[in-house]
Amino acid sequence: MKIIAVDSFLLALPYRTSGGFHYIAGRPSNTLAMLLVRISTDDGLSGWGEAFGHAGAAATKSMLDTLVAPLLIGERADDIGALMTSVRRKIHLFGLSGPAIYAVSGLDIALWDLLGKREGKSIAELLGRRRSDVPVYASFLRCSSHDALQQTCASAVAEGYRTVKLHEITVDRIAAARHGLGPDVALAVDTNCPWDLREATAMVETVRELNLLWLEEPIWPPDDYATLAALRNAGTPISAGENVSSQCEFGRLLEANALDILQPSVCKVGGISEMLKVLDLSNRQKVDTIPHCGYLGPGYAATLHLVSTLEQAPLERLYIELEETPFPSIPAVVDGWSSVPAGAGLGCDVDTGIVERYRVA
Ligand SMILES: [Mg+2]
Repeated sequence: MKIIAVDSFLLALPYRTSGGFHYIAGRPSNTLAMLLVRISTDDGLSGWGEAFGHAGAAATKSMLDTLVAPLLIGERADDIGALMTSVRRKIHLFGLSGPAIYAVSGLDIALWDLLGKREGKSIAELLGRRRSDVPVYASFLRCSSHDALQQTCASAVAEGYRTVKLHEITVDRIAAARHGLGPDVALAVDTNCPWDLREATAMVETVRELNLLWLEEPIWPPDDYATLAALRNAGTPISAGENVSSQCEFGRLLEANALDILQPSVCKVGGISEMLKVLDLSNRQKVDTIPHCGYLGPGYAATLHLVSTLEQAPLERLYIELEETPFPSIPAVVDGWSSVPAGAGLGCDVDTGIVERYRVA
C-alpha cells in the first residue's frame, strides 16, 4: 500500500441561495471553490480529501502540488500519524498554518478515506461512532438585504432546520432573523472578527436578550486571546477556532480561558488526525467542541464522521444549493438531520464526470 500518485482538482461550482448577492471571505462570489485531493496506492485504491479553500484555493493547490504532495510519493499510506508528522517536520519552515497546513489537511483526509476503504470500515466506525444520525444547522452566507434574510430564514424553517447560524454583524439583522425564525429555532451568529473590545462588549450586551447559542469570532485580531476571554460570562457563549492551526494553539486558547466552544476546521487544522488531538484536548478540559465546516465535499463528509463521535455537537452545513455536487452520495439533510454514511472510508463515492465538468485547475 505504497502511495504512487497524488492529484489535485480545483473546481468552481455554481450555487444558488435565497440570500441575494453574496460574499465569501470578503469577495463577491457566485461559485464555490472546492479543492479536491486524490491519493492513489499500489493496491489499486484511491482516497479523496478536501483542502481549504475559497479565494485561497489556488494558493493551496500550488503549495500542495509543488511542496507537500511530492513528499508522499513512495511512502506507506497506512501509518497516517507517522507520515503526517514526517511531512510537518519537512515543511515547518514554510509555516504550519495557511496554505501549507491546508494542503496537509486535504492529504490527511484522503489517507483516512484510504484507511477505511482498506479495512472495509467507515471513518466513523474507525473513530468510535456514537450516533448514526446527527443534527445539522443551516449556516447562511451574509445576506444582501433584510428581505433576502427573511426569505432565507423562512426557507430554512420550511426545510425543517432547528438551528441556524447567521453571518451578519448588525443588531438590526440579527434581531430580524431572531424574529423571522420563530421561537422553536435556535440561533447562532458568526461575525468573522470585526470588533475591538469596546465594540464587541457593546454588541454582547445588546444581543444578550436574543439568547444566541454562541457568538463566533467577535474580536480583531483573531489571536488576541485576552480580549476574547474578557467577553466571556456576559450572557452569550463565545466561540472560535476555524483559524487555529494546531492542537498546541488550541491549548493556548484554553489556557487563556478564551472560549466556551472550540471550532476546529478539518480542512484547515491538519485533517482528521489533528482534529482528533483537538477533541482529546477539549474532552480533557471539558470544553464543548462544535467543528467548523465551510465545506460540501470530502471536508463535509469527514466532519460528519467526526461529529458522529461526539455526544451532542451539531454539524454545520452551508445553506447554499450547488448546481451539481461531485459527491452525490453525501447524505441530504432531512428535517435538520443527516445520517452518517456507513460505507467504507468517507462512504461517499466521487462522480469523476462532475469533477471534470467543473474543474478549472
Ligand atoms: Mg466562522
